[in-house]
Amino acid sequence: MVAIIVHGGAGTIKKEERIPKVLQGVREAVLTGWKELRRGSALDAVEEAIKALEDNPIFNAGTGSVLTIDGKVEMDAAIMRSNLNAGAVASIWGVKNPISVARKVMEKTDHVLLAGEGAVRFARLMGFDEYDPTTEERVEQWKELREKLLKEGNITHWKKISKLIKEYPEVLRSTVGAVAFDGEEIVAGTSTGGVFLKMFGRVGDTPIIGGGTYANEFAGASCTGLGEVAIKLALAKTAVDFVRLGLNAQKASEAAIELATKYFGNDTMGIIMVDREGNIGFEKNTKHMSVAYMKKGMKKPFTGI
Ligand code: ASP
Repeated sequence: MVAIIVHGGAGTIKKEERIPKVLQGVREAVLTGWKELRRGSALDAVEEAIKALEDNPIFNAGTGSVLTIDGKVEMDAAIMRSNLNAGAVASIWGVKNPISVARKVMEKTDHVLLAGEGAVRFARLMGFDEYDPTTEERVEQWKELREKLLKEGNITHWKKISKLIKEYPEVLRSTVGAVAFDGEEIVAGTSTGGVFLKMFGRVGDTPIIGGGTYANEFAGASCTGLGEVAIKLALAKTAVDFVRLGLNAQKASEAAIELATKYFGNDTMGIIMVDREGNIGFEKNTKHMSVAYMKKGMKKPFTGI
């Protein structure tokens, strides 16, 4: 049963007037992916759905990525197929669609993950043009948040991030992901600008295979939320293992988020999944996580937040 689900990030959307735009964004992305899925390729479906989200400045991936503590965009992305082929980029800058560079890493190199300068050089080699994903809105938010946090003297340690996120939910912002099953293979992908005010060089869960992104013959998963949590719990792989042990995608998503809550509390994680039966799953312990999905037989996408 073919199916695709996308997410637009877990967290709290403080300005509720943004919600319709966010829902429209995930809806458009799932329809873009669905078009490719109907042509038969979960790989193209995931890449194209994520590109649509990266190109939409409302989401924190590609154009509209959040800024590091020193005001730069450093993006992470990964894509993985159920045959265990995988490609990822970490702390990449100056490209429009990190997910497409991640796919090239998978297809054109012997490696899984390229980072920083090397990832940028590889992207140029592959013909990706120079592009600045920084938007004015993000620069304004960065200034505001940085000032607010500096005043409170609360940003020196990432150990304080959970507290920080509780006080300033806008620190976590709308990463994007997609998981699809085309009847033969499952593909999962995730793309992000990371977490606001992250340290330079900080890499989140998104490009860590098994952390924020994973797929095998049982299921695929894409995580969103506080990357450090997903890395420590190897959350995407753990969720997929739950399917291997007999849960469906929904139950596995719930079990994964239960685990995140148990160890790291609420307001930390969200996940989307598709299993090899084409079941969809999604769960979060944050206030919001925008999702949209399509399955065979549905006339229009489900969207929710
Ligand atoms: N998981 C991403 C990261 O930590 C952020 C997010 O999902 O909002 O980089």
